[in-house]
Amino acid sequence: VIDTVEDKDEDLVSRPPIITIMGHVDHGKTSLLDAIRQTNVVSGEAGGITQHIGAYQVTTESGAVLSFLDTPGHAAFTSMRARGAQVTDVVVLVVAADDSVMPQTIEALNHAKAAGVPMIVAINKIDRPAADANRVRTELLQHEVVVEKMGGDVQDVEVSAITGQGLDSLLEAIALQAEILELKANPARAAQGAVIEAKLDVGRGPVATVLVQNGTLKRGDIFVVGEQWGKVRALINDKGERVDEAGPSVPVEVLGLNGTPEAGDVLNVVETEAQAREIAEYREEAAKDKRAAAGAA
Ligand code: GDP
Repeated sequence: VIDTVEDKDEDLVSRPPIITIMGHVDHGKTSLLDAIRQTNVVSGEAGGITQHIGAYQVTTESGAVLSFLDTPGHAAFTSMRARGAQVTDVVVLVVAADDSVMPQTIEALNHAKAAGVPMIVAINKIDRPAADANRVRTELLQHEVVVEKMGGDVQDVEVSAITGQGLDSLLEAIALQAEILELKANPARAAQGAVIEAKLDVGRGPVATVLVQNGTLKRGDIFVVGEQWGKVRALINDKGERVDEAGPSVPVEVLGLNGTPEAGDVLNVVETEAQAREIAEYREEAAKDKRAAAGAA
């Protein structure tokens, strides 16, 4: 029932890259995510107040659209991967220029390598007097990350999340990397996506932020997601606006679930409610059996 037919080449169109920011604690992941989001907010614009839904999109000066996962750190990245959802196309590795390569920097670059996801190095806090970008480049060499200024092919950009220096260059570097990757999806098929956040909202019931990976998710679609199922009652984008549909690489809040799924669960649109319920119940039973088996062992 879950549509797994391969897409034909002629149905594929390019889709925005999905980016995760990783790096050592306090190197500026959250600050960078906030600063990048701000690059797109026209001051004074009413609709410019962004919602925190776990991901957001920005448009670069050159017109490229980028989707950022708004959950910094590699915990989210690895737990999603563990659940089978590989949603990241590009990793931005943040390294503070005044602190250089630290243990979690190494962990993060190893995660990116293991996942086969290309990296871009953001040398942050370049505004600080103690900033030493060359030290960062040299220390990265020891971990086989060879940035362009060292003759390698990993793009590196000096940035400051505080002053905004280099942010446009960072966004263009990501857009360039995405072009090389030639990311494609088929907006015409039934949607498949990954849950990046989910919660039980007092007023709205279960709410999941889904990053659509292929196809287009529409209002009224019936879906199964992990052990839950539902019918899309409303879709809300990263600006808090209700939308009728969400295409590839677009993050949206989905309302209309019968229960709360988990981050990393995969959402698939199916044809009927009976199918959705059946698959969800089957998965729930299978998960129960697995837990019982684990408990017995
Ligand atoms: P995270 O733990 O990686 O998410 O780091 P945060 O974004 O919370 O930043 C840690 C601290 O570094 C905060 O006090 C930030 O204000 C500061 N910080 C982050 N980016 C910059 C920067 O580019 N320049 C300066 N001077 N401080 C920064």
